[in-house]
Amino acid sequence: MAATELQCRSGARIDPGLISEFAKGLAGLAIRPEDKSYDHARRIWNAAIDRHPGLIVRCVGAADTIHAVKFAKANDILVAVRGGGHNVAGRALCDNGIVIDLSSMRAVIVDPESRVVRVQGGATLGDLDRETHLHGLAVPVGVVSKTGVAGLTLGGGVGWLVRKYGLSCDNVISFEVVTAEGEIVVASAESYPDLYWALRGGGGNFGVVTSFTFRAYPISTVLGGVLVHPRDKAGEVLRFHRDFMASAPEELTAYAALVTTPDGMPATVIIACWCGDIAEGERFLAPMRAFGPPLLDAIQPMPFPTMQMLLDGEFPEGTYNHWKATFVPKLTDEVIDLLIEHASRMRSPMSSCLVEFYGGAPGRVSSKEAAFAQRASEYNIGMTAQWTDPAESEMHRAWAREMYDAFEPHSNGMHLLNFQSEAGDDVTRASFGANYARLSELKQKYDPTNFFSLNQNIKAAGST
Ligand code: FAD
Repeated sequence: MAATELQCRSGARIDPGLISEFAKGLAGLAIRPEDKSYDHARRIWNAAIDRHPGLIVRCVGAADTIHAVKFAKANDILVAVRGGGHNVAGRALCDNGIVIDLSSMRAVIVDPESRVVRVQGGATLGDLDRETHLHGLAVPVGVVSKTGVAGLTLGGGVGWLVRKYGLSCDNVISFEVVTAEGEIVVASAESYPDLYWALRGGGGNFGVVTSFTFRAYPISTVLGGVLVHPRDKAGEVLRFHRDFMASAPEELTAYAALVTTPDGMPATVIIACWCGDIAEGERFLAPMRAFGPPLLDAIQPMPFPTMQMLLDGEFPEGTYNHWKATFVPKLTDEVIDLLIEHASRMRSPMSSCLVEFYGGAPGRVSSKEAAFAQRASEYNIGMTAQWTDPAESEMHRAWAREMYDAFEPHSNGMHLLNFQSEAGDDVTRASFGANYARLSELKQKYDPTNFFSLNQNIKAAGST
């Protein structure tokens, strides 16, 4: 392999003297391929992604971010932006370009009076939950604590509070953004409202978000946990889950999954989180817990951050991953049969087939109100291939791709872009639906040269 070096987009080498000059202007770190910390710094959650940036800029604030954007712009260098580094497609990394790495920017400031939380652009969900919980508050984010707040929120954001309190992006009051011109702006309903619209679902297309200001809710203890059933009961369990959730209060979010237990047993699980009154939740969840009955019922009251970490062990750092997902309008018996068929073909005990139901608050927001367009789509079917031996990569990728293809006739054409290891331009366009045209105009306005290109990329209006 050729030595890794910082290059401009045409392939010409950037003069090391220029890089040293740039580094002097940083409060944070410039990590170069020859530095000891380089290999650690370029590692992300998905071990299947192995890229070699020419420079990693570990920013400590918005000023470093601006400095990095201006340097990359002036020298026409490819840029990747890293928040939590959990994007399964590896969009936080690039070869021979610059990674604007926000992973040292993890501060979370809570105002308990106004229930407003300010979060820096490199914070993880765990960072956020830890601080909000001190005040008996929570912000709706995802379900694995090491995921980045930034990438998750910019792509929508679904988690245990989604049915009651909506998507993460629907709870952002404002974004502090460094634009492709290296300017700092605050986007909110009052200031840069078009940018505010685009950032709520439009991904990393429009700038580097150095901080988010969120609305939080009074949530401290939830009733949650897992129910484990044998895999040969999958049909009955998935149909029960579908019918039960159809009339369930929005305080309950419950996902179903076809998995393999740590001791190697193929299983069907329901993971539930009730975020309302605990006694009411105990009453409401009783039939779900009695159904079967399950082999294991681990549902119990717990602090919200514990619920948020319940699945962390299922998605350890450093495994190989290939994920795909698609929305189906209804969980028909045919869809359930297809899920069971493809689950029986999983070749890794770490892989899973997921059924996630988001019906409730997201659908009450019009799809014109923010870039995120998949609001009428309630059932997300996920196929997450995860393995540890790189020699098996093609086999596990093929499983996920085959399952995805089999679901195409049942899909409504929308796909959760944050869950895709690979998504062509057609999938991106379809997933934004009627919002794509406006996003494309805003890309032309805020980033006409596609400076921010490593994301769920939107083509600027008029570009080819
Ligand atoms: P990164 O890899 O750091 O970045 C992802 C994308 O966002 C890139 O395009 C990057 O350029 C852009 N980006 C990152 N930070 C910034 C920033 N500060 N400003 C501008 N652009 C930025 N999603 C859910 O909705 N709910 C879940 O429950 C959920 N669970 C997950 C669990 C696991 C184990 C994993 C791996 C993913 C999960 N996801 C979930 C998907 C997740 O939302 C996406 O992978 C998301 O991209 C991760 O964001 P990140 O900041 O960690 O990623």
